[in-house]
Amino acid sequence: MTPPTSKLPHVGTSIFTQMSQLAAQHGAINLSQGFPDFDCSPRLIELVAHHMRAGHNQYAPMAGVAVLRERIGAKVAATTGADYDPESEITVTAGATQALFTAMASLIRPGDEVILFDPAYDAYAPTIQLFGGIPKPVAVLAPDFTINWQLVGQLMTSKTRLIIINSPNNPTARVLDDADYRELSRLTAGGDCYVLSDEVYEHVVFDGKTHRSAAQYPGLRERAFVVASFGKLYHITGWKVGYCLAPRELMAEFRKAHQFNVFSVNTPIQYALADFLDTPAEYLGLHAFFQAKRDLMLRGLASTRFVPLPCEGTYFLLADYSAISDQPEHAFCRWLTQQHGVAAIPVAAFYTNRVNQGLIRICFAKRQETLERAIERLIAIKMV
Ligand code: PMP
Ligand code: GLN
Repeated sequence: MTPPTSKLPHVGTSIFTQMSQLAAQHGAINLSQGFPDFDCSPRLIELVAHHMRAGHNQYAPMAGVAVLRERIGAKVAATTGADYDPESEITVTAGATQALFTAMASLIRPGDEVILFDPAYDAYAPTIQLFGGIPKPVAVLAPDFTINWQLVGQLMTSKTRLIIINSPNNPTARVLDDADYRELSRLTAGGDCYVLSDEVYEHVVFDGKTHRSAAQYPGLRERAFVVASFGKLYHITGWKVGYCLAPRELMAEFRKAHQFNVFSVNTPIQYALADFLDTPAEYLGLHAFFQAKRDLMLRGLASTRFVPLPCEGTYFLLADYSAISDQPEHAFCRWLTQQHGVAAIPVAAFYTNRVNQGLIRICFAKRQETLERAIERLIAIKMV
């Protein structure tokens, strides 16, 4: 039998997996893939165990356990002022990844065009393609990564089905401001174009800046899927639980795909998260917690030849290495991992046409000693 024609001929192993594997092979400090190297709250683990012992071990309702959806609704209302009905407008998902996938599954038909911004999170373009959609990337470039909305307007056609935004942004570490959301509202008003807003780093915004949610703009709320992740909220990336918000009619379509995609999400974890949402301090303190780590990294980088770019949010920062090497980013990251024991991600990996700007992405969601050891190694790097 001949092998099937690949639906994703250009997709290989993700850069995150590749770099984490290379880091492990070389015993390097892994600042590549985005995950904390510290543990979550012990109370959260106790709560999961409690709910397992209490017999919450069978299928959850398809949309998520009711108490969790209610508490998510209350959190969203408290932090954004937006009102979502837990019954019909909130669905618990297996991480943000499944929420993104299912939102796209429910909307995209063959030939539909989807506008996204390069550099983009690696899941977007392949998911668009799996459903026959055509990614229309708009490149935003260092050092500002400002979106040219005029260009977006020019790219929009009757086939534009969806625009994907991600703020705070992985990997640029930039945050969209009010003017960006207004432009997006203006461009989509009155048409059939939907919005997918990936807000997984909603609480990781620095220097007093505010995260704005698509949910806060009436013109966007009526056409947006808003995606969030408990992985980022509570340092539990391995638990893979997130959620999606959308207006009733959109959510009805989302759930049709969701019920055949995962049907429902881990039951005891959902109950534990519902209990844990009673302490908003856990996520409201995230910006200060990660800002201290960012600042430690920035102070350290000041003694190296790397030049950091502005970092407004997320637990990533970009650094320019042109004072060290003129190698392309993939080669530089391999060299950094193999020769200097620090793994990072080439920013080119997030661009459709692999734009090389001499930038690496560093994840600073790490313990202080991990960051200090990495900084020592980065300081030791001279020119090549
Ligand atoms: N979107 C962005 C921008 C991310 O950075 C990530 C994970 N790092 C995800 C989505 C996926 O989140 P999850 O692990 O909850 O699937
Ligand atoms: N989102 C994480 C990152 O940006 C990686 C998640 C994954 O490996 N798929 O590093």
